[in-house]
Amino acid sequence: MKKILVTGGAGFLGSHLCKKLLNEGHEVIAVDNFYTGNKDNILGLLENPRFELMRHDITFPLYLEVNEIYNLACPASPIHYQHDPVQTTKTSVHGAINMLGLSKRTNAKILQASTSEVYGDPTAHPQKEDYWGNVNPIGIRSCYDEGKRCAETLFFDYWRQHQVRIKVARIFNTYGPHMHPKDGRVVSNFIVQAIKGESLTIYGDGTQTRSFCYVDDLIDGLVKLMNSNDDITGPINLGNPNEFSMLELANLAIELTGSKSDILFRSLPEDDPKQRQPDIDLAKKVLNWVPKVELRDGLKQTIEYFKKVIN
Ligand code: NAD
Ligand code: UDP
Ligand code: UDP
Repeated sequence: MKKILVTGGAGFLGSHLCKKLLNEGHEVIAVDNFYTGNKDNILGLLENPRFELMRHDITFPLYLEVNEIYNLACPASPIHYQHDPVQTTKTSVHGAINMLGLSKRTNAKILQASTSEVYGDPTAHPQKEDYWGNVNPIGIRSCYDEGKRCAETLFFDYWRQHQVRIKVARIFNTYGPHMHPKDGRVVSNFIVQAIKGESLTIYGDGTQTRSFCYVDDLIDGLVKLMNSNDDITGPINLGNPNEFSMLELANLAIELTGSKSDILFRSLPEDDPKQRQPDIDLAKKVLNWVPKVELRDGLKQTIEYFKKVIN
């Protein structure tokens, strides 16, 4: 049994991760400041004696004794991370320094939830880990993209300078139950709009693409990465390479909810990446990981969840 810290443990991904780690028999400490997280996500875990919940902001130091750290704390949807962009950068940068300091002192292995956003609006397609990205350093997405890039820098410097055992996962768009119904991400927006019979809002002409990974697959990948040998540091892409346009996604959401909603075209936000698809050869090779859930099946599960929470 390991003692594992999950920062952002009350969020979408964090709550699923805590559940999986508890099911594997570990002791789990979830740290969250509830900026975007929600106690409902972890309601089923609170009575477990191996689970502990701490309200804490990781931009401040934290002293605990743990064996592993999953650093997931950070708002992830554009609406939320742009609401207080300075705090977003502080969470990525000061948060990483504190968690790496904790890791250095306790010799805990530490995994960073990085993102495909480090590739920005990519000029290489699909994106491989050795692509350095095309990121605007001063735009409205920069607090998130550059914060995450700086966090990766810190991880690799703590590894080179202090031999901290690091794992960096570059997570591509992930969806599933526990997504915040109002976080503005495309999957939650389309499903909620379709269930309510409202128009689905496509930004731009809907030809931009994303590749969507179901949450269970992603969590499986994160745990496999954490459990890999110490020489596997990443960065390593985790995502589902099946690529869809936003128009295709909208039509699928309408079909699977049986909705009568129509589609409304809105203007495209600044710096919105035109295409995104992970190259996951590295994850296949070193982690023996491939995502298994098809978009259609994952969307059905997500629709069931949203039907329960928004009614
Ligand atoms: P989320 O917003 O649901 O979860 C983030 C959690 O972190 C929330 O519970 C929030 O309250 C907490 N948090 C934010 N700032 C904090 C702080 N300073 N101190 C303590 N807690 C704080 O988002 P998510 O989708 O679960 O994302 C989790 C991680 O995965 C994030 O780091 C995100 O950047 C990364 N990621 C997610 C996706 C995705 O598609 N979901 C894609 C790429 C990367
Ligand atoms: N830190 C922490 N918990 C720990 C150890 C360190 O939060 O258990 C914080 C500490 O406040 C420091 C940061 O992590 O600001 C970086 O730690 P490091 O040891 O690298 O730096 P130093 O303390 O030498 O500045
Ligand atoms: N998007 C959309 N309608 C919405 C929300 C988002 O067309 O209601 C688009 C958005 O412009 C982007 C894509 O869907 O091109 C994915 O957006 P999301 O915020 O989910 O993720 P990210 O842009 O961070 O990959």
